[in-house]
Formats: sequence, C-alpha cells, structure tokens
Amino acid sequence: MQAYDPDNVFAKILRGEIPSTRVYEDSDTLAFMDIMPRSDGHLLVIPKTPCRNVLDASPAQLETVIRTVKTLAVAAKAAFSADGVTIQQFNEAAGGQEVFHLHFHILPRYEGVGLRAPGVMGDMAAIATQAEKIRAAL
Ligand code: AMP
Repeated sequence: MQAYDPDNVFAKILRGEIPSTRVYEDSDTLAFMDIMPRSDGHLLVIPKTPCRNVLDASPAQLETVIRTVKTLAVAAKAAFSADGVTIQQFNEAAGGQEVFHLHFHILPRYEGVGLRAPGVMGDMAAIATQAEKIRAAL
C-alpha cells in the first residue's frame, strides 16, 4: 500500500488551499459537499488527520469519522425528506477510490430513484443551497 500523499485534494481542502462547501466540523472530522453530486445533498465526511482509507486508518480515526457520518446521515435524510440514505466508502484504486484520504459518501435516497451518473460537475449555487438545508437540520 502506498504512503499517504499530503497533496491529495482533501488534504488541500483541510488546509484551506482549495475551496469547499463545509457543512459541519469538529476537532477530529470535517463534512463538506461533493462537487460532483450523485444525489441532492451528496456530502463527504473525512478525518482531519491523515490516512488513505479504512485499510490504514486507526481505530480512533474510524470511530470519530463514523460518529460524524451518523450525525450527517440523519441530518441529510431529514433535510431532504429522503426515504433512506446510502453510505459509500472505497479503498484503493481497485476498490473504486479516486481521492486517497479516507472519506465516506452520504447520499440521500428515494424509493425507486437511482443515483445520478458519476463524474458530472454540480451546480455550485444549488450545492450551496443544499448545504444550508443540511446545516439547518443539524
Ligand atoms: P472516490 O475516491 O471514488 O470516493 O471519489 C472521490 C469523490 O470526491 C468523488 O465523488 C468526487 O466527486 C469528489 N471530489 C473530488 N474533488 C472534490 C472537491 N474538490 N470537493 C468536493 N468533492 C470532491
């Protein structure tokens, strides 16, 4: 397994070197909107300390991240009056991972409605509005 790359895009977001739409943070974790949303309210939760994914994360990193995932999953479901929530997490390129800083996707879902295609840039104004709805539900 490769070493953690401190110049990955989420490390840059944590350092404030590139913009993000933040919805929640505490001393250990950050939640922000995915810029290529596969559903309205698609957001990501990451630890503030470095690890590539679940395979090299410490128990403490996993514990703090999953606590925030739970908080944001409940808030996002409420904010969008969703029927359910998909939580996705990928490990290494073969496992579908593209950004190598541990992250969990949170995707509000509706009965019978599929996810949108991956890799399509979202409307940043709409994403900002969705972020505000999630903040209000926290
Ligand atoms: P994956 O590693 O497969 O979970 O994919 C990385 C995810 O990060 C994708 O859903 C991208 O849309 C998302 N992403 C990539 N760059 C950014 C960024 N600058 N801000 C927010 N989300 C991003």
